[in-house]
Amino acid sequence: MKRSHLIKPVLDAVYPTIDYGKGVYLYDKDKKEYIDGSSGAVTASIGHGVPEIIKAINDQANKVSFVYRSQFTSEPAEALARKLSEMTPGDLNWSFFVNSGSEATETAMKIAIQYWQERGIFTKTKVLSRFISYHGITLGALSMSGHVGRRERFIPLLEDFPTVSAPYCYRCPFNLTYPSCKLLCASELERVIKRLGKQTIAAFIAEPIIGAAGGAIVPPDDYYTEIKKICDRNDILFIADEVMTGIGRTGKMLAIEHWNVQPDLVALGKGMTAGYTPMAATLVSERVMDPILKGSKMIMSGHTYSANPQSAAVSLAVLEYIEKNQLVDRGKMMGNYLIHKLSTLANEFAFIGDVRGKGLLVGIEFVYDKELRTPIKLANLVIQKAMENGLLVYPSSAGEEGITGDAILISPPLVITKEEVDELVIRLKKAFIKVDEQLR
Ligand code: PLP
Repeated sequence: MKRSHLIKPVLDAVYPTIDYGKGVYLYDKDKKEYIDGSSGAVTASIGHGVPEIIKAINDQANKVSFVYRSQFTSEPAEALARKLSEMTPGDLNWSFFVNSGSEATETAMKIAIQYWQERGIFTKTKVLSRFISYHGITLGALSMSGHVGRRERFIPLLEDFPTVSAPYCYRCPFNLTYPSCKLLCASELERVIKRLGKQTIAAFIAEPIIGAAGGAIVPPDDYYTEIKKICDRNDILFIADEVMTGIGRTGKMLAIEHWNVQPDLVALGKGMTAGYTPMAATLVSERVMDPILKGSKMIMSGHTYSANPQSAAVSLAVLEYIEKNQLVDRGKMMGNYLIHKLSTLANEFAFIGDVRGKGLLVGIEFVYDKELRTPIKLANLVIQKAMENGLLVYPSSAGEEGITGDAILISPPLVITKEEVDELVIRLKKAFIKVDEQLR
């Protein structure tokens, strides 16, 4: 017999086999129950097995699943574009559909470069980003990502984009404290722009709240206002990477709305279909589309599955479900409750350095010593112990051992109830007790 293998994240690790999911719970083939405390990879935001979405999948499959976007448009794709522009702030009226968050950020990068070209400017090709950050795994998206672990094997193939420090107050890159720091991390953007020359820079990309690389790092309140001013006065587009934070995850439809800042482009993914099928999007503002509409009238990108009606119908059903059940507000309420409970728990364990986040995107960063904030690599052990206790949480680190922190993300589906949050915290506490024993 021919040997066949599924390539899993860690090749010699044993993974449980999933059987089914219902609401915030997942069940494996051994009948073990897990609370999906991370919505997978911060994705399954409306929970598992929702009948309305299953119906939408079947209804669309019964009509047509695939057409190619150069040959047909479809009602679900058109309706989804309308819905996204209605649900997002300002004039993000144009949607380009792709299949993953990496494609969404990379497409945003390409559209930003094309925007300047359509205006007759061909030198603006760099996209500035921050260290630390994560914008995706494909080479273009990775070029923009400040993530040591995911970059290091491919450095010769990458553009050298990430240069600006992240607004990581818990480990301020300048060893300063807000507000006396005068937001040096924001003004650094202007210094970098001057050094590289604004004529070389197309855009600045940032995750409004840093997720996979940092564990829900929330910037100081006036940070994005300052960043947007710097971008505007230097003719640089601002791309909000909302792949993780978007579609209600942080208590607003887009996380950037917490700071009333209007991005020029937005990347969406994950929660857009809540995991029911792959689909992501780059949203483009009128301002950015204008010279393209007057110029080449084409976005020079696209994938075979872009705007396929099957995924579009699913995403539309997910957005309608979120709206109908007011899940954005619900996520905000449950997030406040979860952060309150975790902050209390933090007092009981010496290795919990920081609890932070917004809505249901919550991070816990680990330390050797609370006072000194010395980083400790603990996320994998916590994840293992949590899983043994029937709870899934998500790792978060920039892969710079001993420099930046090691954290977990807790990001359950937005439908989670108060009782389920209580149960999640009980299971997490059990995991922390086991970790504590192991550290002694
Ligand atoms: N951008 C952000 C902020 C992300 O968190 C991720 C994935 O975690 C991506 C982009 C890449 O998305 P995908 O894994 O769907 O390619």
